[in-house]
Amino acid sequence: MKNTADIIIIGAGPVGIYLGWQLAKRNNSVIILERNSRKDAGSKMDQFHLETMVFEKYGIPPPMEGTDELITNFEYTSYYGPYGKYQQVMKYPVTAMRFQFFIQRLIGLAEENNVHFQFSTEYKEVLIKDNHIIGIKVEKEGNIQEFLGKLIVDATGSSAVVRSSLPKNFGVETFKIEEDEKMYVIQRVIQWKNPDEPHPGTGEYEESISWLYYKTWLAPHFLPNANIFGGGQPGGYGNQEKATEIFLKEVPFPLYDILEIHKATTAYRRPPYSLVGNGFLCVGDSACMSKSFSGEAIESSWNASLIAVEVIDRVLKKDQKLTMENLWQINIQYFRGRGAKLAALLAQIPGAANTTKKDVTYLFKHNFIFSGRDFTSMWENLELEISFGRILKIVSLFLWGLLTRQFSRKALSTMLRYMKISGRIRKHYEEYPENINDFEQWVEIAEKLWNQVEKMKFTLVSDQIS
Ligand SMILES: Cc1cc2nc3c(=O)[nH]c(=O)nc-3n(C[C@H](O)[C@H](O)[C@H](O)COP(=O)(O)OP(=O)(O)OC[C@H]3O[C@@H](n4cnc5c(N)ncnc54)[C@H](O)[C@@H]3O)c2cc1C
Repeated sequence: MKNTADIIIIGAGPVGIYLGWQLAKRNNSVIILERNSRKDAGSKMDQFHLETMVFEKYGIPPPMEGTDELITNFEYTSYYGPYGKYQQVMKYPVTAMRFQFFIQRLIGLAEENNVHFQFSTEYKEVLIKDNHIIGIKVEKEGNIQEFLGKLIVDATGSSAVVRSSLPKNFGVETFKIEEDEKMYVIQRVIQWKNPDEPHPGTGEYEESISWLYYKTWLAPHFLPNANIFGGGQPGGYGNQEKATEIFLKEVPFPLYDILEIHKATTAYRRPPYSLVGNGFLCVGDSACMSKSFSGEAIESSWNASLIAVEVIDRVLKKDQKLTMENLWQINIQYFRGRGAKLAALLAQIPGAANTTKKDVTYLFKHNFIFSGRDFTSMWENLELEISFGRILKIVSLFLWGLLTRQFSRKALSTMLRYMKISGRIRKHYEEYPENINDFEQWVEIAEKLWNQVEKMKFTLVSDQIS
């Protein structure tokens, strides 16, 4: 195998493979280097979800019925308030799949378009000449190899090994994701002991369920009479276990066996202010592109990948160098569009943390903010759809909630404060600088805005609604 290509991607996850595949489709040469063996590629998790629309939108053939890859397609997700009350139904088609089978198929699709993979290959360091990355050093079976390319892409997931090893003055932030910027997820595969009796998942519109207040969910599983019972909390797996205990006390489940337990983390953090440097791009989890309301990142990373493909291809076809300046359009298009919406959503999380069980119950009961229609809008557009008439209704419901003491003043003021901060953050990202020379000044303001956003905290307590 040759050790040079137009684009060298490190990491054969869903994002690195997709990006490489799309670049190769435009006749650019691509090499993807992956730490795992070919057989183990995609073994980091089992079950996952994709919005069904992604297959058409991103040109990926959907998984076939009757294969191990496809678990099921479902249309509805039910959201419940505290104590499992006040069902809200979201209509939004989702495909439940098995990650490793999907990754293996994606590798095949990329290879059909001449992407070259080298497995069991671990990234070691970047090679830099005149402040431009020209290649990398990797280790395979104890031997050091060099790969040279016009662009080096970090698609190594949340470890971000390439980005975090860049020189400090390179122009791309080198942060690692800190412990308090992660959600600690525990997924239990459970099997119902008496499957013929009603249990969560058998009710109407319960193909998938989310108990938002407890950050707990139930999803389909491929084994008979089994479900994934999952939950995520900030601050460590201990908090997640505590949350599950509280949840089961307040929303009791019929008897079940636990077949498997999987633990993993997802990142809740703003992306680096620049995704590009001279000869460099980061994308996917290495660039923190997750949707904060679900922790899912694949779709938004493919969205960013398509922007990157257009820009990279254009520069290469003009025979120009992939400098930070020539790649700058990736930053502009991503951060002014999808990136601005995701940043605004991320900034709203601490606001939600100050709502008590009683506040959340009030919102669920009266169909606002936590309503089926709002959830659909959030998934479809990454924002709530609020007309003037609806604003009037919401204001009157808030006032009524305050007057009747069903909604706390503290929750309202925190929500308003964070709506304001998040609105400012969105606007600032929508004004991402056209000119690279204005970047430093833009970052200074962005820093001030993000400093007003608190970190996530574990706030769940077992209390009664008075
Ligand atoms: C429990 C859980 C459930 C999730 N469910 C969903 C879901 O349902 N839907 C969704 O959209 N998202 C989900 N996510 C998030 C999703 O898994 C990630 O957003 C997605 O995998 C990111 O893709 P990526 O390609 O950026 O990184 P990864 O999938 O992490 O892939 C990175 C690749 O880089 C390789 N690598 C790492 N270091 C090196 C190195 N030094 N040298 C060479 N290779 C290296 C890794 O082996 C890996 O193959 C979930 C996450 C978790 C933890």
